[in-house]
Formats: sequence, C-alpha cells, structure tokens
Amino acid sequence: MPSNASHAVVNRLLAALPRDEYKRLVPELTPIAITFGEVLYEPGDRIKHVYFPNDSIISLLSAMSERSTLEVGMVGSEGMAGLSVFAGVNVSLTRAIVQGAGTAMRMSAAVVRQEANRLGPFHKLLHRYSHSLQSQVSQSSACNRFHSVNDRLARWLLMTSDRLGTDEFRLTQEFMSNMLGVRREGVNQAAGTLQSAKLIRYSRGMITILNRGRLRVNACECYSIIKAESDQYLN
Ligand SMILES: [Zn+2]
Repeated sequence: MPSNASHAVVNRLLAALPRDEYKRLVPELTPIAITFGEVLYEPGDRIKHVYFPNDSIISLLSAMSERSTLEVGMVGSEGMAGLSVFAGVNVSLTRAIVQGAGTAMRMSAAVVRQEANRLGPFHKLLHRYSHSLQSQVSQSSACNRFHSVNDRLARWLLMTSDRLGTDEFRLTQEFMSNMLGVRREGVNQAAGTLQSAKLIRYSRGMITILNRGRLRVNACECYSIIKAESDQYLN
C-alpha cells in the first residue's frame, strides 16, 4: 500500500472516510476500468462486487422489459453501486449500466457485508449515503412522472456533466431514450429544443454543454434538490 494512498482518493465517499479507516480498507479496493454501456448487474443478478466510481458514472435502471427502461438513480464519484448488499440483500433490483466510461474502485460484496456489522465510520457513511440515494430515487420518480422531457433532459445532462467533470461527453440517442424512458423521437425533439436555444450542441453521439447557466435555468428544480442532498451527506 502506498503511504500517500489517501492523497489519491478520487471517489468522494471513500475520500470522506477518516484517514485510518480508509487505509484499513485500501487492501480491499481494486482499481478497475469500466466501459460505456457495460452492464454490471441485471435485475435478479447476485451482487458479487460493489463499485465506487472515480471519474465514471453508473446508472441504475428500472427495466419493465428489454425495450422499456427508465433511470431511477445515478451513481458517480459521490457514491457506490451495489448498495443493497449493505442492507443485507445480495440480489440486484435494478440494472446497473455504465453511462460514463472511466475508472472505479471495486470491493467484494462479502467485505461490505462484514463492514455492515462492524458499525465503524465506513458503516456510518454508507448509512448516510443510503439515505441520500433514496432521496435521489424518490425525487427522480416524481420528476419522471410530473416534469417535461425537456426539463428532465436538462437536469440529466447537468447531473451527468457534474459527475464526469466535463461539459463534453459521449451519448447516443438510444442511451438517452433508455435513461429518460421516452421514445427516441421524444429525446430528439427535446435535444433539438436545447440545441436551437444554443444551450447544448449535439452531434455524432457527442453532447457539448455550451451554456451551463441557462441550461440550469431550463432544468427542473429536481437538479438542485438532488445536488444539495448528495453534497450534504458528504459534509
Ligand atoms: Zn424534475
């Protein structure tokens, strides 16, 4: 273990741990690369590992059928995918798919289960994160039901950009359609509206946010609510 291990912590959940606690867990963490579109769990899969994204994003999707999916949660550097293990449930309820390629720290589910019984700082932090993710899922459910596709797309692009740490990222129409739970034509129309207003540029599967301030004005209030919640749990 490098002595300066704690200086290189990118995942904010891991970085929020007391230094000694983090050092104790370092041997259990394996850095891995995850690729765009990679499915980490399907609903019903046994969870063998949990993932702490560094500069990547893992989307949690509710799948009604192969063609009908909707994002219910987004996990970036503020969190961990595979949280149900912490609650003692070894089976995934959602599809976990890589929405932003990059790196993540992987930990065995068995270790997370042990840590859940240990009642130390890691346990406490995961507990707080559970609440934060639950809030995000509740807010997303209401958002998906009550807010327009335009507003939701703006929110979703901002959340993606925050977690990837860049204003330019890869996205296909199919992917956006699966995330927002709307047909491709609906996504096209919403992206077209944002593009005409010069808030984004969308070309060849790449999204560029051109005017973040105005995109924020166009996003529904869910963006600020979710952001405040995920920032707050870490403090
Ligand atoms: Zn909303």
